Amino acid sequence: MLSPGKTLGVLGGGQLGRMFAHSAERLGYRVHIYEPSADSPAAEVSAHAVHAPYTDLAQLEAFVRGCDVVTYEFENIPCEPLWRLEHAGVFHPKWQILEVAQNRLREKTWLRKNEFPHVRFAECEVGGDLDAAIRSIGLPGVVKTADFGYDGKGQLKVTDEASLARAVSSFAGQRAVVEQWVDFKCELSVLVARSSAGETRCFPVAENIHTKHILDFSILPARVAPELLEKARALAEAIAARLELVGLLAVELFLTDRGEILVNEMAPRPHNSGHWSMDACATSQFEQHVRAVTGLPLGDVSMTAPAAVMVNILGDAWKWSGDQCVGEPAWAAILREPRAHLHLYGKKEPRPGRKMGHFTVTGTDLAETFERARRLKAALHA
Ligand code: AMP
Repeated sequence: MLSPGKTLGVLGGGQLGRMFAHSAERLGYRVHIYEPSADSPAAEVSAHAVHAPYTDLAQLEAFVRGCDVVTYEFENIPCEPLWRLEHAGVFHPKWQILEVAQNRLREKTWLRKNEFPHVRFAECEVGGDLDAAIRSIGLPGVVKTADFGYDGKGQLKVTDEASLARAVSSFAGQRAVVEQWVDFKCELSVLVARSSAGETRCFPVAENIHTKHILDFSILPARVAPELLEKARALAEAIAARLELVGLLAVELFLTDRGEILVNEMAPRPHNSGHWSMDACATSQFEQHVRAVTGLPLGDVSMTAPAAVMVNILGDAWKWSGDQCVGEPAWAAILREPRAHLHLYGKKEPRPGRKMGHFTVTGTDLAETFERARRLKAALHA
């Protein structure tokens, strides 16, 4: 166990690192951030930050040697420097899990090999026959880049011959994955923490609503039969055990009309769909991550309110005149609401689609809480 007072290193300096740092420092740890860009929400609130590329082996080694454990807040980190530095420090989770999660093809192949339910897919290597891969899956389908995709970036839905031809030309020269389009009933996510002793805790399952591929609302409890929620939790726990996870893992799922639960994506780090836990759970996902990687006992994951809805605040909520930002959102309605909690990430430059903050609304009745969350979101534009 790493006692409070030790130093926790985080690779990545975005908002997830910032909220991790808040939780770690509350438990008495020092946090060091390694982040290539100078404008870093996490560096701003941490004891120390290094700004250098992930491929700068000398800088990365010095960073790792200065930390008692190193973790991540971002999975798109090149793995080669990590395996080269395996001897220099302790990494939780291990880099092999990042390697699986950061590439859609490796992720899906891992799910298939380990017999976890997943969306039917076909692969297409660089220069391969994408047309044939799409036809083998059938329409509608979705083509995604194999590497470094998130929030719908690098994706194209294929519904007919015209969009198929567009996909073939726009993915030329890239490694791609073709997935069957799932007409899901809803999207769910489960966050699971696992300690080095093999202790596992799952947070309550979130129901997620995406708009333009970006998470818009997380709804707790998910409006799904209890046995399906149990199935989702069991699946996430089994995946965490199979990966030999030490840390936190988010598993994003599709629930189909037939009651099937299919894994869409995995991320070995805190996740946007777990932000509600900061205000409506006995232990937040960030504190649980700290506990899991330091070997502290895992925290209670009971909800502290019967209902919670998390709303993302994107740069779109700022006032725009063409591409000029001319004013900030009207925060007053959220700040006046007693059961709403506003979190802003300190990013200097708003941009449409950029995650700038979130708020969580709690309540006793889910329908009323969701309605209030929607009203407060609309009020940002007042
Ligand atoms: P991803 O970047 O793969 O997580 O995709 C972002 C969002 O796009 C998902 O949360 C879904 O809303 C949608 N999506 C991705 N893949 C599929 C699929 N195979 N079928 C239906 N919707 C999908």
